[in-house]
Amino acid sequence: MSQISVRPEIRRLDAYSPGLSIEEIRQKYGLSQVIKMASNENPLGASPLAREAMRRHAPFAFRYPQSGNPRLVRALADLHNVHPGRVAVGNGSDELIDLLIRLLVEPGRHNIICFEPCFSLYPIQAGINGARIRRCPLDTGRNDFSFNFDALLGLADGDTRLVFLTTPDNPSGHCPAREAVEKLSERLAEIAPRCLLIVDEAYIDFADDEAASSLLASRILPENAVFLRTFSKSYGLAGLRLGYGVLPPAIAEYYRRARLPFSVNILAEEAGLAALADTAFRGATFATVREGRQILTHGLSGLRCKVWPSSANFLLFRLPPASGISAGACFEALLEKGIIIRPLTSYNLPDHLRVSVGTPRENAAFLTAMRDILNRQRP
Ligand SMILES: *Cc1c(COP(=O)(O)O)cnc(C)c1O
Repeated sequence: MSQISVRPEIRRLDAYSPGLSIEEIRQKYGLSQVIKMASNENPLGASPLAREAMRRHAPFAFRYPQSGNPRLVRALADLHNVHPGRVAVGNGSDELIDLLIRLLVEPGRHNIICFEPCFSLYPIQAGINGARIRRCPLDTGRNDFSFNFDALLGLADGDTRLVFLTTPDNPSGHCPAREAVEKLSERLAEIAPRCLLIVDEAYIDFADDEAASSLLASRILPENAVFLRTFSKSYGLAGLRLGYGVLPPAIAEYYRRARLPFSVNILAEEAGLAALADTAFRGATFATVREGRQILTHGLSGLRCKVWPSSANFLLFRLPPASGISAGACFEALLEKGIIIRPLTSYNLPDHLRVSVGTPRENAAFLTAMRDILNRQRP
């Protein structure tokens, strides 16, 4: 036997479980066409201006990117009307999540707090980095997946370094008012002055009123808050890996020092800059998602599913108990019909399903398939 030894945190690890890919399903079921509504990607694809920028810059792929991606940083600072010193970019917001944990948490000593369920990457990266993890159950008593900030703050102590909040939340779509988030940051600053509040706004631009939901959009920047955004959803660039944050200036400075030098590659940077300018694509995306969200909500409710109100580009739902079909069986039946949605066993929600808003055609195909599946089950 090899003597090579791996850290206990890694031996214990349950890796992130992503949505299934189109290729996996095409091969497994021998399908020619597969619809993916599993990973909250942009139903309209990638921004046309971003695609053009990638074509234009492909010949320069042999060059290293400019250190620190200053053009992209400046464009993002302009977008949010903040000093460029506050802006940090990364290989997806995943890189920011991972590095912020490593910047603040001393392994084995400090703790992080997140809701249960939440985006599974927070506890996974926290575990890899040796953080203790404290989970606060979402309000499942009222069954609305709302945030109980009193209970969340009740878990904080002098060794808490990070509190994670996703708004709108994944997988529920729940979105609190920005005043509630501001109050949370104020109370956290009193209880745990060394602790950062990470506000993950991956989906916030899909909310009906972004300014009412986002401190960042309202340019209210508490000293203990980090705001994370991504190009993976509304900008349609999930495969390129580009995310960013607006951070307290001192934390942003440490982030820049600790970051891998070229984690935002040349094509991601150019595509990101172009996507920021592609207002037509963004407008079309928001129109498609807001309309699709309504159509799916209406369609699923009509099939007597329980659908949670969502401010994001996906919906959380449950099948009608009378249907006699489990969430897992429904997920499998959809796969056989070439439609991938997201089972939520990895979120500890085995009875719930999550579907990303698609194009009008995809939404219609999904609802037709759901009708077939639910009706087939009925005695
Ligand atoms: C999709 C998503 C992100 C985006 O991650 P990237 O690494 O930027 O692709 C971040 N947070 C949450 C909660 C998400 O669902």
